[in-house]
Amino acid sequence: MKNAGRMPALRKDTPILYPSAFQRCISPACGAAYDVDEIRVACDRCGSLLDIAYDWSKVAPPRSWKVFEDKWSRRGDPHCFSGVWRFHDLLPFMPVEQCVTVGEGQTLLHVSPAVGRYVGVKPDRLHLQYEGMNPSGSFKDNGMSAAFSHARFVGAKKAACASTGNTSASLALYSSVTQIMQAVIFIGSGKISYGKLSQALDYGALTIQIQGDFDDAMSRVQEVSRELGIYLVNSINPFRLEGQKTIMYRVLEALQWQVPDWIVVPGGNLGNSSAFGKAFYELHQLGLITRIPRLAVINAGGARTLYDLVEKNGVRWNDGQPDLDRIEHYFQEMDAAGRRASTIASAIEINRPVNLHKCLRALEWCRGVVRQVSDQEILDAKAQVGAGGMGCEPASAASVAGAKILVKEGVIAPDERVVCILTGHELKDPTATVAYHTHDAKYFDEVLRSRGVEHAKFANRAVQVKNDLAEIVKVIEERGRR
Ligand SMILES: *Cc1c(COP(=O)(O)O)cnc(C)c1O
Ligand SMILES: [Zn+2]
Repeated sequence: MKNAGRMPALRKDTPILYPSAFQRCISPACGAAYDVDEIRVACDRCGSLLDIAYDWSKVAPPRSWKVFEDKWSRRGDPHCFSGVWRFHDLLPFMPVEQCVTVGEGQTLLHVSPAVGRYVGVKPDRLHLQYEGMNPSGSFKDNGMSAAFSHARFVGAKKAACASTGNTSASLALYSSVTQIMQAVIFIGSGKISYGKLSQALDYGALTIQIQGDFDDAMSRVQEVSRELGIYLVNSINPFRLEGQKTIMYRVLEALQWQVPDWIVVPGGNLGNSSAFGKAFYELHQLGLITRIPRLAVINAGGARTLYDLVEKNGVRWNDGQPDLDRIEHYFQEMDAAGRRASTIASAIEINRPVNLHKCLRALEWCRGVVRQVSDQEILDAKAQVGAGGMGCEPASAASVAGAKILVKEGVIAPDERVVCILTGHELKDPTATVAYHTHDAKYFDEVLRSRGVEHAKFANRAVQVKNDLAEIVKVIEERGRR
């Protein structure tokens, strides 16, 4: 893997020993282990990604879900209130007292009959997991609370990320609220939505905009972090994924610990899908669940690396030995053809997903499938989520659009319980929403038609009325009748 390896050691002031957890290479053939207080983003020996692993003989695993219900009853304690640290027993990589929280994870699992009908399942079967309710407005806060905590644990002074927007918003928020570390943010040019950019700037992060896209920003930030000893919080960081496991714990909590049939999630860098797979695999190992749900990862058609590799090229985890030649060949072709990711769903506009191998493993554990959806399908689904729920940003709606396709294909049955993860808040990207609903043909062309979106079937247009009482009353009486 390019840019893999160790970051320069940050000086440890005190020796830290936290024996229940360690970092482990995900390649079963290698399996190298590293202490939990080391800072690295890849295995020294073979370059693979790292996992956080636990030694359950040194720390007692939770025996039943009741542990977490008891914590909620003690929610006056910020670590019990946090939707991440309430589940600390399932991610015990550092002492809970030192974990950083800004109140993340107060999310909602909402049953939406309207979206259920759109997707094609029975009305009470479609659940929307609203991760946009997090402090910075996206699921990234789950992972950031964990990575930021680890950064503090090892004494980092600065933390950095490359971002399509939400990771930077989240890092900037944790930095501004806690004042523990300075945030350094790398973004591509012209690719970030205003909602997200405004957060990074407003929270006072050092924001570096480079010419290029997310993948360019990602390789630069890794170089810079290594050079300057800055702590990297991208989802290549295995601690981040530990925090993101808790999204699944909260889904289970909301279902009174019943396992759903399907988890449907948009796929960008594949951190979420990787984390979800690990969450369920571990719960199954610990005996807290007896069945693992199936996973569907949804790419945007304009950024469909995972879809192409898995569904078109048959790449599989294959017991930790995925077909590296085939993967490399795919990327070489992509570069040779000058193909760059392009989708209205900017949060998943990614060419080379950093967690590809972990996601292949998650697909194996969860009997997963991958689908791609067009920007048209994404925006139509997004309008349905808005009209029948609480709204979401474009990338999030890929989950709903993907679920609809899987029902049509007969892969998801109408009476199966489906959870779509809505990864980010509606207000993250108002440009896409307004362009869809607007009258203004020029604006529609500029923002949407240029991406192959031809019509806005579910547009809710503003009604133009003269400033006249009788006219207004007439419109309301006519339009109000449904
Ligand atoms: C980051 C992000 C994604 C992609 O998640 P991955 O874990 O990188 O696959 C999807 N939706 C939103 C809103 C995001 O911010
Ligand atoms: Zn290794």
